[in-house]
Amino acid sequence: MEKRLLNKKVIVTGGSRGIGAGIVKRLFNEGAEIIIADIKEDLAAKLMENLDSEKINFVHTDLSKEEEIINLIDFAKNKWGALDILINNAGIEDGFMLSDQSYEKYRKTMRVNLDAPFLCSKYALPLLEKSQSGRIIMISSIQGVRGYKGNISYNTAKGGLINMTRVLAVELAEKNILVNSVAPGFINTPMSVMKDGNLEWDTDWFKDVYLKYEKLPMGRYGHPDDIAGAVYFFCSEDSKYVTGQTLLVDGGVSVTF
Ligand code: NAP
Repeated sequence: MEKRLLNKKVIVTGGSRGIGAGIVKRLFNEGAEIIIADIKEDLAAKLMENLDSEKINFVHTDLSKEEEIINLIDFAKNKWGALDILINNAGIEDGFMLSDQSYEKYRKTMRVNLDAPFLCSKYALPLLEKSQSGRIIMISSIQGVRGYKGNISYNTAKGGLINMTRVLAVELAEKNILVNSVAPGFINTPMSVMKDGNLEWDTDWFKDVYLKYEKLPMGRYGHPDDIAGAVYFFCSEDSKYVTGQTLLVDGGVSVTF
């Protein structure tokens, strides 16, 4: 099979598991060289062992800390001197409504979900400018395009990320850097496992809200490779005239809003 991202230099935040790991595997199979930036070193080691290559690196990065993001970008600079693709994937959920949300928890979610993509994009910019065709891809969420009860900090951050995508697309087009976002729907990852250990999918409320009234037309959870396919499109030459867009990859949930 032709490798269409051969030697492209890519950073994937939150790449140790879930959607990020799906993205890492897909882009690696397309020939990319990858830095995983995450706090889950053990999971990254397992993933890298299976990929069995020296073209993949792990940089322990707590994305809620600016100095660790600076360290990550320094690592990429020393290793590659340039960067082709930045994938701002890492995210956390806290699940509170306004009445129950503390400012401290709100800020933590904002730091990881919105501040980190800003800081990674900011510090990576000089490296992306050295690429022939730089790309920034944000992993947002369908929760960023609708009002939804609960999860005020997460949903607000994801809405902000979608507009950050538009703003950066406009600002960076003259530098030949394209900026797009993929908004997943319900994807089967550890994030979808609730505090009691059950999958959101298996709860009565999910079945009631999404399945009974056919609000999830494809009738199934998505998988990390469903998202990785859309991310690959935004990394590839096939999207060379696309910028500022958010592609909703959600089995049709959003068209039933
Ligand atoms: P996940 O399984 O929880 O994986 C996220 C990864 O990011 C984990 O390895 C996590 O480590 C890491 N991470 C969290 N905080 C970090 C920090 N401060 N610094 C560095 N790494 C950190 O999540 P996922 O489901 O794959 O989600 C990936 C992205 O897709 C997120 O932005 C999420 O909002 C978005 N998304 C997911 C869904 C879904 O249904 N799964 C739907 C819409 C959007 P820890 O395990 O230690 O936290």
